[in-house]
Amino acid sequence: MHNLRLSIFLILASFSLLAQEPFLSTREWAAIRDESSGAAPYENLRFLTGLHRVPATPEFDQAAQFMLQKAREYGLSDAHSEQFPIDGSKTYGLMRSYLGWNVDAGTLWEVSPQHLLLGDWKTDPIRLADYSRSADVTAALVDVGNGASEEDYRSKDVRGKIVLADGMLARVQALTVIEHGAAGIVSDMPNQTTAWSGLDPTLVRWGHLDARQPSGFAFMISRQTAQSLRVRLQAGDQITLHAEVKATVGPAHWTVISATIPGSDPAAGEVVYSCHLDHERPGANDNGSGCVTILESARVLARLIASGTLPHPRRTLRFVWGPEVEGTMAYLATHPEIKQRLRANIHMDMVGGDPFKNKSVFHVTATPWSLPSFVTDVGAAFLETIQSAASDYAGSGGSAEAAVVETRTAEQGTRNEFIADVTPYSAGSDHDDYDSSTIAVPSLYLRDWPDIYIHTDHDSLAQIDPTKLRRVALLGAASGYVYAGIDAQQLPRLLPFLAAASEARLTHIFQDSQRLVHDPKLEPGDAWFEARNLLKQAVQRENAMLHSLVELAGGPAGSEATAAKVLATQVAAFTEAIDAQAKLRGASGTAPTASWLDTSAARRVPGRIGDFGPLTYQNDNVLLARLGKDRYAKIKLLNADATPLLSVQDQSELYAYEIVNFVDGKRTVGEIRNAVSAEYGPLPLSLVVDYLEACAEAKVIQWK
Ligand SMILES: [Zn+2]
Repeated sequence: MHNLRLSIFLILASFSLLAQEPFLSTREWAAIRDESSGAAPYENLRFLTGLHRVPATPEFDQAAQFMLQKAREYGLSDAHSEQFPIDGSKTYGLMRSYLGWNVDAGTLWEVSPQHLLLGDWKTDPIRLADYSRSADVTAALVDVGNGASEEDYRSKDVRGKIVLADGMLARVQALTVIEHGAAGIVSDMPNQTTAWSGLDPTLVRWGHLDARQPSGFAFMISRQTAQSLRVRLQAGDQITLHAEVKATVGPAHWTVISATIPGSDPAAGEVVYSCHLDHERPGANDNGSGCVTILESARVLARLIASGTLPHPRRTLRFVWGPEVEGTMAYLATHPEIKQRLRANIHMDMVGGDPFKNKSVFHVTATPWSLPSFVTDVGAAFLETIQSAASDYAGSGGSAEAAVVETRTAEQGTRNEFIADVTPYSAGSDHDDYDSSTIAVPSLYLRDWPDIYIHTDHDSLAQIDPTKLRRVALLGAASGYVYAGIDAQQLPRLLPFLAAASEARLTHIFQDSQRLVHDPKLEPGDAWFEARNLLKQAVQRENAMLHSLVELAGGPAGSEATAAKVLATQVAAFTEAIDAQAKLRGASGTAPTASWLDTSAARRVPGRIGDFGPLTYQNDNVLLARLGKDRYAKIKLLNADATPLLSVQDQSELYAYEIVNFVDGKRTVGEIRNAVSAEYGPLPLSLVVDYLEACAEAKVIQWK
C-alpha cells in the first residue's frame, strides 16, 4: 500500500513538474517560480492600503510615486510618471475625461438628541463619498427609503435637509439634491450584490457621487448604523445632523506610471502588464493586489534577465499603473506609437484574496469571441501546473516548492489549494479597453470573483494571502515571458498543444449545441439554425485562436493548416449529429435557415468611424453622452423591459460590447447577429439592428 502510494505520488509529482511544457522548460519554470515572492508584494500592499486612492487626488499621486520608486528600485528601465489633463470634457479616444477632487475636511455629527460622530474623512476617508462638495449645514435627517425614484419624495419635504437613503448614490443625488433641493445625503447603499450581501451589517461601502452634478455631499454609513437611525426616525425622533465638508471638484490630471524591461528586437512588439491603481482605502484586493503583483512579476523577470538566468526576451515588457479603464485610455490615446506596438496584455484586478476569508475564486479569464487568442491557453496551462501541485501539497504534504506556497517569511502564506478556474470573457476592468476591436490587444485577465468585501472598509490586508500573491506573480511573469519570446521556431511544439485545447473546447461546445437543438423555447427549425451557428462560430473562433499564435510568431502563412483540418473533421461529425437530432425533432430541409436571412436589414454592412475604444467607461457612456437621456432610454438592447430574452441584467452590456467589436467594415448585420448569438445566446436580429442604428446616430459607426 505504502509503495503504491509512493509511486502514484512520484508519477503525479513528475507530471506536475512537466506541466508547464510546451511553453517553458522545467529549468525556466523553476527559475521564475523560485524567484517569485509573496512577501514582497504583501509588504508593498501594506503601504498602498494606507492611501485613499481616488483618481486625480493627492493620495492617488502618492500611490503612483510609490510604484515609480519601486519600479526604479527593482531595476526596470524607463520608469517614469506622466500626467494627463482632465476637465470633464477633454476626450481620449471616444471617452470624455472626468474631474479631480480635493478634500481638506469632512465630518458628520449627530448633534441632537445625541452627540455622536458618524464619520470623519481624516481618520476614515471611505465615509465621505467621492466627489462630495463643500457644505456646512446643521439640518434634520429625513428617511426617504431607497431615494432613487420620484415616488420616494411624494409626501416629503427634503429642501435644506439631509436625507437617509440606500439607493444608487448618483441617482439619489440627482433627485434629492438637484431636483428637490436637499443639502446632502447619508447613505447605506448596499454592497455589490453577491450571495453574502447584507449578511455583515457592519460593512461601510465606498460611494461615489456624480462629479458632473454641480452640488451635493454624501456620507457613507454601515447598514447597522442606518437601521438604528431609521428605527429612531420611525419612532418619531427628531434627529439633527451637522455636516461639514471642505472639498472641491474641478480640472486636474490623471497620473500614470510606466516602466519597461527592454526586449532584444524592437520590431517584434511589446507585451503590456496592467492593473488599476485607484480605489478606496484600504482597497487591498481591489486593486492594490493587482498593482503589487504585476510589480512582483516585473521584479522577478528583471532580476532573472539581469543575472543571465533567463535570456532577454524578444519583445519589450511594459508595466503600467494608472486609474482604472480611464488611465488606460488616456495612455493609449496619447501614445499611438506604443499602442501600435502592443501584442498581448496581462491584466490583474483582484488577485490576492484568501478564498476562505473573502469567498473568492481566482479566474483566468478568456478574451471575448471577437478577439480569439492563444494568450488564454498559456495562462490556463500555467494555472493547471500550479493548481495540481498545490492540490497535491495541500492533500498529502507533497512538494512545497512545486506548490508555490509562501512560507519563507514572517508573514506566512497559507497552505491552501489554488481555488481557481478558466472562465469565458467577463467585463468590468481595463482589459475591456485592450480587448475592444479598435485596440485589439488580447488580454489574459486574472481576477478574483466574488469578493464579499469588495468596495468596503473590510477589503483590507487581513483578507490577503501571500501564497496567492506569489502564485499569481509567477503566473503573470511566466505568461508574459512566453508571450515576449514566441517565434516561428516554436510553432511545431506549440500548435499541437493548442489544437488539443481547441478540440476539448469544441467537444464542450458540441454539448451546448445539443442543448440548443432540443431547446423547447425554440421552433425546431430555429433551434437547428442556432445549434449549427454555434458550431460554425466556435470552429471559426478556434481557427482564429491558432492563427493568432502563428501571426505573433511570424510563422509562414497556413502554419496552422494541419491543426485546422483536424478541427474541421471534428466539427463536421458534430454537425452531422446535430442535423440528425434536428430532423428527429421535426425540422425540414437540407440546411437550416432563418426568416431574416434574406432581408436587406441583415445584409447591411456597418463600419467604425475614426476614434477608438469601447463605448462605456467608469464615468462616461459614449452613446448616452452623444444621444441624450431620452434617445438612450429607447435603445432596445439596453432597455430591460424590451429584452425579456436576456436573463441576466448585465448581459445586454456584453452583447453591446461585442456587437460593436464585431463591426469591421466587412461583416454584415446578420453575421454580427450570428457571432454574438453564438457567444451569449440567440438574439433577435431586430435588437442588433436597433443598437447599430443608435451607434450610427452617435457617429460611432457608419453604414457602408
Ligand atoms: Zn478592480
